[in-house]
Amino acid sequence: MAYIPHERKCMICRTSYSYCPHCAEYSDQPTWRAGFDTESCRTIYDVINKYRLNIISAHDAKEILDTCDLSNFENFDPVYKGDLKNIIKEAEIIPEQVEDNVEESNDVVDNENTVEKKEIKTMDAPSTMQKADELLNNKNRKRNK
Ligand SMILES: [Zn+2]
Repeated sequence: MAYIPHERKCMICRTSYSYCPHCAEYSDQPTWRAGFDTESCRTIYDVINKYRLNIISAHDAKEILDTCDLSNFENFDPVYKGDLKNIIKEAEIIPEQVEDNVEESNDVVDNENTVEKKEIKTMDAPSTMQKADELLNNKNRKRNK
């Protein structure tokens, strides 16, 4: 096995890669490199978390996952592998919600929060969900300023 300086393992796909948050030679790299080798793996992690917190549906999660690189799936961390299988299974079993209230053209597609905003608008949220949505809205508002 070749020597990898500052070796890290991707939290999702467990691929070895080089990164150190304290070394100048990596300072031009995004900070998510501390946990993931590729942007795709970072997105997968993000999707799994949002799905776990009921921020996005299995269908939305699946849609995003379809844009990610799952070619190394068999080597993925077993925990996340299980989550991904659940998402894919649920997206297949549960029929997609009809999104008749959403006017796509009015949505400002300006950042990664678009999916979340859409979900909040269309979802018939129970009270615990509403609380999560409020938190999310506040967070988004701050971030958008
Ligand atoms: Zn990875």
